[in-house]
Amino acid sequence: MRRPAPASLGARKRVFMSQMEPVIGLEIHAQLKTKSKLFCDCPTEPGAEPNTNICEICTGQPGALPRMNAKALELAAKAGLALGSTVNSQSLFSRKNYFYPDLPNGFQTSQIDPPICSGGSMTVGSPEALKTIRLNRIHLEDDAGKCVHDAKRGRTLIDLNRAGVPLIEIVTEPDLGSSAEAVEFLKKLHALLVRLEVTEGRLEEGEFRCDVNVSLKPKGAKELGVRGEIKNLNSFKFIGQAIDCEIKRQSALYASGQGVRQETLHFDSANHDIRTLRTKEEAHDYRYFPQPDLPEVLVSDDTLAQLKASLPVPIEEVISRLNSLGLRDDQAKLLVDRRDGVEYFNAAVAEGGEPKRVAALMAELFLPAVAKSDLNPLKAPLTPKGLADLAVLLDSGRLGRRAAYEMFVELFESGSDPEKLAQNKGVLQISDSGLLSKLASEVVAEHSREVEKYLGGQEKVMSFLVGQVMRRSRGAADPKGAAKALTEAIESGRKQ
Ligand code: ADP
Ligand code: MG
Ligand code: ZN
Repeated sequence: MRRPAPASLGARKRVFMSQMEPVIGLEIHAQLKTKSKLFCDCPTEPGAEPNTNICEICTGQPGALPRMNAKALELAAKAGLALGSTVNSQSLFSRKNYFYPDLPNGFQTSQIDPPICSGGSMTVGSPEALKTIRLNRIHLEDDAGKCVHDAKRGRTLIDLNRAGVPLIEIVTEPDLGSSAEAVEFLKKLHALLVRLEVTEGRLEEGEFRCDVNVSLKPKGAKELGVRGEIKNLNSFKFIGQAIDCEIKRQSALYASGQGVRQETLHFDSANHDIRTLRTKEEAHDYRYFPQPDLPEVLVSDDTLAQLKASLPVPIEEVISRLNSLGLRDDQAKLLVDRRDGVEYFNAAVAEGGEPKRVAALMAELFLPAVAKSDLNPLKAPLTPKGLADLAVLLDSGRLGRRAAYEMFVELFESGSDPEKLAQNKGVLQISDSGLLSKLASEVVAEHSREVEKYLGGQEKVMSFLVGQVMRRSRGAADPKGAAKALTEAIESGRKQ
């Protein structure tokens, strides 16, 4: 008798994975939108020459004393309020001790217990199947500097401009179940924090980055598996890829009987590869202790009430208001997703633009132009009033869709009055009904054979007649208006 061939590793992995489920928890670092650093007056704006935005405090000179930036505290509390966290009236800064060349103090100033905010949550999924992702905490901390590897000369340089820049770290519970869910969560969180003006959120500047913890467990099991932690990812795409890579890596380890050990990992996005940074045996013992140079962090009831009052309307409410104006979900979402998109829309509607028309113009023409020129909508040369006027011109039939689209770039860049521009270009249509009826009567009188065909049921002839009106108007007639005028002229001809 033949023995069955042993299952391949691939097959074993598939069987194994069908019985396991991924568990994911995120630690998100968002740079707070402040002018100066967390404990000194140095500017936070990126792009300066290395080591120019530094002082004795953020470079850890002996005896220099940190001073808390009140704005950073306010922004952290604001994020917590919007995420349903409890903002603690008293919290503490601690020193998280470790050595790294870009950490001049020899410790990071962070919060362990209590943090500025505890708990909270955010949902993912569709309205029919919402899933709540719990937050563990939000805490304040300062950023480290940056090592710059100069491969040419074989040396490493240190830039301390980032050292001391204020961050919040948002830590989720391990409630996420797939890379798609994690990415959805992060995009939603990013949009919320940007909307709250808690962060600028420029991913390429490292202003929103994430550590991803991934483990596998048997489906339905309570106990969590051993996790791998992938550090410092700052692109939604790479985060998704890194999670999938790590799930594959772990399932291969389990399937081959080796098991997973707790590790800190690095995702190599060029090669889709996961590398070990450190294993648990070498894990840091941070020896957290209270930072004696800083007082307790206090948030008064008054401050909290003021912050609550300053929170913007929740996104769901904004969307349902836009829906009630007749906007489709995708249009509403587009406006909400763009910074100041809804503000621009509201202003254009207040200037007399019909909401659906304004939304369509924004989606098809305005927002792409804004994105291309990297502008804030409210700073675009084409003002909400200009867009509203364009909407009115289109709705009145005086400007054709094609002409509007063709002149849009110029309109956008010059910010000129749409009616004047259309007039100068000679694309304004005649929708003056007196003139249109005159032209229509002329055409009807001259083309009695076609009119008869039309009356005999050949409806296609109408486009020929409209074409004749267009010709007489040298292309300036509004085709819909022309068709209407023609029907009227034919009708009244029959009655005579
Ligand atoms: P640290 O990474 O600093 O040791 P924690 O142990 O609190 O901190 O965990 C940090 C993150 O790891 C949290 O987002 C948490 O949800 C997540 N996490 C913890 N255990 C697991 C696990 N077994 N699988 C996946 N994620 C986990
Ligand atoms: Mg961690
Ligand atoms: Zn400084």
